[in-house]
Amino acid sequence: AHDWNKVNNSRILVFVRLRPMDKKEKEAGSRCCVRIVNRKDIYLSEFASGNDYLRLKRLRGRHFTFDAAFPDSTTQQEVYSKTTAELVEGVLQGRNGSVFCYGATGAGKTYTMLGTVENPGVMVLAIKDLFTMMRQRSYDGNHAVHLSYLEVYNETVRDLLSPGRPLVLREDKQGIVAAGLTQYRAYSTDEVMSLLQQGNRNRTTEPTRVNETSSRSHAILQVVAEYQVRDSAMSVVIRVGKLSLIDLAGSERALATDQRTLRSIEGANINRSLLALSSCINALVEGKKHIPYRNSKLTQLLKDSLGGTCNTVMIANISPSNLSFGETQNTLHWADRAKQI
Ligand code: ADP
Ligand code: MG
Repeated sequence: AHDWNKVNNSRILVFVRLRPMDKKEKEAGSRCCVRIVNRKDIYLSEFASGNDYLRLKRLRGRHFTFDAAFPDSTTQQEVYSKTTAELVEGVLQGRNGSVFCYGATGAGKTYTMLGTVENPGVMVLAIKDLFTMMRQRSYDGNHAVHLSYLEVYNETVRDLLSPGRPLVLREDKQGIVAAGLTQYRAYSTDEVMSLLQQGNRNRTTEPTRVNETSSRSHAILQVVAEYQVRDSAMSVVIRVGKLSLIDLAGSERALATDQRTLRSIEGANINRSLLALSSCINALVEGKKHIPYRNSKLTQLLKDSLGGTCNTVMIANISPSNLSFGETQNTLHWADRAKQI
């Protein structure tokens, strides 16, 4: 079990998942440049073979440690159990939680979050667990699961369950909400996979890269779980908790993390929401009082899911191929920074 309450009641757990080498990478003759040791340590080296002094020296500068690092043989169930199962327990106690997948396009974010029918990912496994546990714990057998699934693309918010006009963000007593967003009541896990797959197909694709799906769109699934339990005095209390599962846009064009670079590339063709997320994380890392949530749609929507008493998990996805060396290095640096909260 993780110790969530280490610093100011708020902490981000950071995990890294390495995906298997794919066919394209193999055919291009690429080599593996990532080594995972003890399920915690990651060594990154452009030269995977040989044992010379220079190589070791290089490795020393590129060594990272995370809460856990998952080798390419790790199953979906194991990733879910180690990263998200505890957040689901928190949600059942009424504590909000959020899971982000971060990484370059093709690194395995959507596979980790959504997965396939044969190998469902974190989104589906979390909902399955919520159903099972609420069924066991509900005092009258009743429970409700509501899903909303939206995308942020170019600072425009769209409903992925009911595509149409962009949604406007409004502030109400619950915080910032997307007005008119579908709240879908789910009754079983079985219907969820096809619902989310359809939602994923509704994500905006790059006009210039028709075959590349949604590399600049963020998908946010929010799951609200509600049931009734008896407390120690035997009176009935309602428990409500929210889990946010976020499949972030590809990180390949958002490499800048400090404020100065951030300003200088403002207006360039860069993902504002991803940069704003980095700024919020930097502000949290530095223990700042003011967290700049207002800078983007993504951070406004996730205001109640980052910092504060919220449990947050980051899963950084990486490819093993030396062709992605630079992106992998950037992803690991970003994740390393997030770890310090
Ligand atoms: P991203 O969402 O980060 O752009 P994807 O999740 O779409 O990347 O992954 C790219 C490809 O690699 C997909 O075909 C996906 O099925 C495959 N893939 C990713 N991670 C794994 C994994 N852990 N095991 C098997 N295949 C994977
Ligand atoms: Mg994807």
